[in-house]
Formats: sequence, structure tokens, C-alpha cells
Amino acid sequence: MNITANNPTRKTWLEVSKDSDFPIQNIPFGVFITKDDIITIGTRIGDFAIDLGALHQLGYFSEIPLTDDIFLQDSLNDFIADGRKTWRLVRNRIAELFDMTNGELRDHTSHRTDVVFGIDTIEMQLPVTVGDYTDFYASKEHATNVGSLFRDPKNALMPNWLHVPIGYHGRSSSIIPSGTPVRRPMGQSRPLEGTNTPGFGPSKLVDFELEMAFITTAANNLGERIPIEETEEHIFGLVLFNDWSARDIQAWEYQPLGPFLGKSFASTISPWIVTLDALEPFRVDNPRQEPTPLPYLQVEGKKSYDIHLQVGIQPENEKETIVANSNFKYMYWTMAQQLAHHTVNGCNVRSGDMMGSGTISGPTKDSYGSMLELSWRGQNPVPLNDGTTRKFINDGDTVIMRAHCENKDVRIGFGDCTGKVLPTLV
Ligand code: CA
Repeated sequence: MNITANNPTRKTWLEVSKDSDFPIQNIPFGVFITKDDIITIGTRIGDFAIDLGALHQLGYFSEIPLTDDIFLQDSLNDFIADGRKTWRLVRNRIAELFDMTNGELRDHTSHRTDVVFGIDTIEMQLPVTVGDYTDFYASKEHATNVGSLFRDPKNALMPNWLHVPIGYHGRSSSIIPSGTPVRRPMGQSRPLEGTNTPGFGPSKLVDFELEMAFITTAANNLGERIPIEETEEHIFGLVLFNDWSARDIQAWEYQPLGPFLGKSFASTISPWIVTLDALEPFRVDNPRQEPTPLPYLQVEGKKSYDIHLQVGIQPENEKETIVANSNFKYMYWTMAQQLAHHTVNGCNVRSGDMMGSGTISGPTKDSYGSMLELSWRGQNPVPLNDGTTRKFINDGDTVIMRAHCENKDVRIGFGDCTGKVLPTLV
């Protein structure tokens, strides 16, 4: 089916600024509460939120086989479970309805009032109920940097890393939408030199991890695997993902079983899911993989995406400083490989599952996706515009992540993914 929603020449009758993350070619999906306290599924064009529940009730999706209450829900899980054909029909129909030349809704004042709201009047929620959250470790630069810092620069990459898309099962209950504050976690840390008792208190090394996460549909039954060439059929879309980390807690706890409380206190996501369909024009060549992965991880075609990523730190009452610029295309393992690997043992993936990419670091020092790497574990403090420096994140700091794709025709963005660190609760 044609993705007519991606037509780069289409213009909308809504006013959209040129640098908006949400032109009519984006049409992301999210969940919000209206000013009348109604929760609904919606989309966004420019600075307008569009109530898909109301649109459906008014009959604007009558040509598409959808259940009556598909958009009158507090999560996108059921809509995502309807599959890619339905996602495409709905996105194409929204594009058509808001096309400059279409008067159906534009010229129906009362319907328009029921459906289109200013973005400032709504409150974004989590877009999906996340059953399971998996976090990969797919940036070679990041894995090499962390291996150098935590273990041994000469053997920074573990011997399995170039063969296995490494991942672990994370915590979904603490995934929160952009704007939700994050409490500095309490925890244990490595005993000081010459002592046997671990430290305990508020983490001193709170960090961000610049990631993206993809959201799946119900893809396979338990015991079945997804062949790699079919994986993208089951990916609904992506969000920005800040996988907050407490490095002191992590360093003490992570052996032998991996990350635990150093990671599970919070992960912030951008609230609009940008569909994989909308990212279609931004496919780029996959990174060269040497050695060649096993056959179940080999795939033809471009499975990487050119998505510019940025991180800023804004201290309380100060202006923001951009501390990192990276790109999603730096991922060594693609989403297709990650999903094929995730299910190769027969593990079933469900609608609304979230798969973090792992921290996305680029090849240069200003493209690292965490303070651990940017400050090289505190050895090179990062200067901010207000004259202070940061080794890690202070109380009162807001971390702001952004992502967008751009070509000569269109810019598709994700909106902000922000979180402010608050002092530990006492
Ligand atoms: Ca992570």
C-alpha cells in the first residue's frame, strides 16, 4: 500500500511553522488528556493536537475497518495490534483530511472545534502501556568507551559483542513521559579504598543515556521466531528515550548479572510515537559489520535511519547548553537485527513492547551520548554557558533531548524529551 501520507509536497490548512517537528508529513500518534478531562488517542500537526477519538465518532474514518472505541483508550496498544495495514490507512486518511485542498473538516466549524485543540491545552500521557522493556547496547563507540572506562582499554569490547546484539530486560514501571521530574536515587556504592563497607546514600553520579526506542506490535507466538526480513512489519514507530543511570550504583552492582537499580529508577520518553512509515525517506546504508554476523542476522537493504540527535543541559534558572550531537545511524546493530535476535529463542514480543537502542555515541568526543563519556568519568568536566561545569547531572538540572530528520523537502521531528532531576526524597 502506498504511503500517501508521506507526500512531501502536501500542504495543510492548519498553520505550521517551517521549523516545526510536526509537519503534515509526520502524523505521529500519542495519548493525551483534553482540557475537558477526556483521555483520547491523537495526533499532532504543528502546534495543534488532533483528537482521533472525536474524529472517529464523527464518522471521518468510516471507510476504514476500525472498532468504535479504538481511539477512545488510554493507550495505543490495541491500535498498534491492528497491524501495519491499519496504521497506514489511518495515517493516509489523516493526511487527506488536513490537506489544504480538502474542505470536509476545514469548512465544518463545529466539528473542527471538537477535534482540533491548541497543544498548550492538552496534557500528554504515556502513549503505550509498556508490558516489557528491553534495552540493547548497540553503539560500538559507546560499548568501546564504557569498556575502556569500566574495564580495560585494550579489551574494551567483550568477545561476544561483534556477534550478538547485546541486551538486557529493563524495568517498564518507571518509564515516564517527557516533563515528569526524576528523583535522584538512593543506593549502594563501591566501598572506599581500604574499607569493607559499601557506601550508601543519594547517587553522586546521575547520568543520562541518549537513546531511541522502538515500539512493537504483537509479532510472534511463544516458540516462534521472526525472520529478519519480516521484522520491520512489526515495528510501529520510535520515540526518544533517556535511560537515566546512576553510575556509582551501577559500577558496584552490575557484576555478575548486569544493570539493576542503577538503571530502574526512571526512563523518560518523548510522548509522540513517530511511525517507521514517516521515517521511510530517511533510510541510509547500514554500518559495515566485520566479522559478518550469523545468517539469521543478515539482511538486504537499508535498515539504518539518519536521525540527528541532540542533548542539552539546563541548570535551574539558567539557559541551556548543548552538550552532545549524535545520530541514530551510528548504531552498529540495526532495529531489524535487534528484533530478529530478540525472538530467535522463541521469546514472544507483544503490542506496546519497548526496545531501547542503548546509548548512541558517535565517533567524535562531542557526539558521545552520556556524561560518563563526555566528561570521561569526570576527568574532563563539561563547560556550561553559565560558567559552571558538569561531570554528571546536578539537582535542579533539566536534561533535554531532541531528534529530527531532514532532507531538502521535509523535516520530521520527535518533540522534546525532558526531565528535571530533583533531590532525593528524605
Ligand atoms: Ca541504556
